Amino acid sequence: MQIGILGGGQLGRMLALAGYPLGLRFRTLDLSSEAPAGQVSELMAADFNDTDALKRFARGLDVVTYEFENVPVDPARFLSRRVAVFPPPEALEAAQDRLTEKRFFERLGIPTPPFIAVDSWDDLKNALNDTGLPAVLKTRRFGYDGKGQVVIRKTEDVSAAWQSLGGVPLILEGFVAFEREVSMLAVRSRNGETAFYPLVENHHHEGILRLSLCPAPGATSELQGEAEELASRALAALNYTGVLAIEFFQRDGHLLANEMAPRVHNSGHWTIEGAEVSQFENHLRAILGWPLGSTAPVGFSAMLNLIGTIPDLRSLLAMKNLHLHLYGKAPRPNRKLGHLTLRVPSAEARDTGLAHLRQLIGQSE
Ligand code: AMP
Repeated sequence: MQIGILGGGQLGRMLALAGYPLGLRFRTLDLSSEAPAGQVSELMAADFNDTDALKRFARGLDVVTYEFENVPVDPARFLSRRVAVFPPPEALEAAQDRLTEKRFFERLGIPTPPFIAVDSWDDLKNALNDTGLPAVLKTRRFGYDGKGQVVIRKTEDVSAAWQSLGGVPLILEGFVAFEREVSMLAVRSRNGETAFYPLVENHHHEGILRLSLCPAPGATSELQGEAEELASRALAALNYTGVLAIEFFQRDGHLLANEMAPRVHNSGHWTIEGAEVSQFENHLRAILGWPLGSTAPVGFSAMLNLIGTIPDLRSLLAMKNLHLHLYGKAPRPNRKLGHLTLRVPSAEARDTGLAHLRQLIGQSE
């Protein structure tokens, strides 16, 4: 069986690495001939809108998936007329635009922060009357890792925010003073079987995910049930196949959906060592219509992203419960170069291990 992946980043690379033990082969399509998945799969470098390249890409593939959500929808639709494409392109479409996405959640009764579409300076002033301050102004499309968004704290910040983002369709959200951020990784197979990983607690800095803890400290079975129920609505509405990640703000003990990603997700990297079957393998099983593997956690995990620089590997590797993943990318500021997963038998061991690890890599929070 050969699987096609649109996008050749680290997620594609980890999908391929999870698939080889199952006897699968991979072809990835990326703009860059240097894409990290190219080191472990047959890489085609081409534009996603090049239909001749898409035809060559699709030849002989059993199923096509994607590994980042800014793959344009039209090529996904074009491919879906030749070969099965999962998750459905509709999910891609819903997740690419923050306004469509929030309206999708709203339609399903999934709570979100308050939000209003903003297309002009007047819209922004009116919207701020509704949300009050602080508020978060975001571009509707192509935002990731905190890019394309500004927090407006004071009236004096409004015109600077408009100047930095105005001119493209925007969304204004009420600022949520959340207790914490958590994410749910749900998976649904072609045959309708679903499974859910335990809730993950996520810590961002400057809009980039730094740390994920799973199981999320103190997450009750009620909170897990709430997340599963909300995710189930999204899976059903999209007739979804594959892994779907939903990021939530937890406030007053309940969940507000911030965004979803129709793909494997950074907050699920811990599953490689920390769950019975990883998000990557389960995504592949799902898109192939195979039975899903267990999502049960194996111990307590902490996943730290390596961003911008790679620390001294010898001291990291000397930590006995630590698992190192490097993506084969050249260091560059704010670039995700790899991650570390600490997997230990107890929450206490996770706290001590994490403190030691942070010292080693010189990270304070
Ligand atoms: P996003 O790109 O929408 O995931 O936003 C990146 C990060 O900004 C989130 O993980 C939050 O930490 C923060 N953020 C985004 N939207 C809001 C909001 N409405 N209220 C408070 N914080 C937010």
